[in-house]
Amino acid sequence: MSAHSGTALAAECASCHACGMLNRLPAAHAHDVTCPRCGAPLHVRKPGSIQRTWALVIAALICYVPANVFPVMTVTSLGKTESDTIMSGVIYFVRSGDWPLALIIFTASVFVPLMKLGILSFLLISVHRRSSWRPVDRTRMYRLTEAIGRWSMVDIYVVTILVALVRLGNLATIEAGTGAVFFGSVVVITIFAAESFDPRLIWDNCNARNT
Ligand SMILES: [Zn+2]
Repeated sequence: MSAHSGTALAAECASCHACGMLNRLPAAHAHDVTCPRCGAPLHVRKPGSIQRTWALVIAALICYVPANVFPVMTVTSLGKTESDTIMSGVIYFVRSGDWPLALIIFTASVFVPLMKLGILSFLLISVHRRSSWRPVDRTRMYRLTEAIGRWSMVDIYVVTILVALVRLGNLATIEAGTGAVFFGSVVVITIFAAESFDPRLIWDNCNARNT
């Protein structure tokens, strides 16, 4: 028996999302089945997973535009006001020689969110097209998007810490801008998108081919 064959669904079983108990499903796949151990509703697959994930991915992509166009922070120093978008911030740190900081901000705020949205879109399209291409690798890609989710928050921390630090001085102030709000939404919406995708969908098409 290969690793591809036999999901719980094929054996007419479903695991509980809340407590993980594996339950045998009634023959008719009746709705409103609850877990006998904890009482949570049982679903073979997350309900509306593909539609919800698409909606969240598109919403995150829309927010990604203003997150990069609007300034994430406004620096007022000795009467001079300067607004910075994410990219202009990265360029500023590169020019002033702060390579590690520039790299952290670029990775956390430009590269990681785009990579996550790219991976999720790719997985959604592959499920749509009933692809049986490398299910193990696709599952790994999904796990990667889940694992790096919280690290995109690094950028919001950077802005928050900068705001808190510089407020302490009298000569300069830093304020978070509109871009930071949109950027925060991108990060949060993407975390929800990764959460609403059901990675078991990847394996359904592989099993359909085998039987
Ligand atoms: Zn349960």
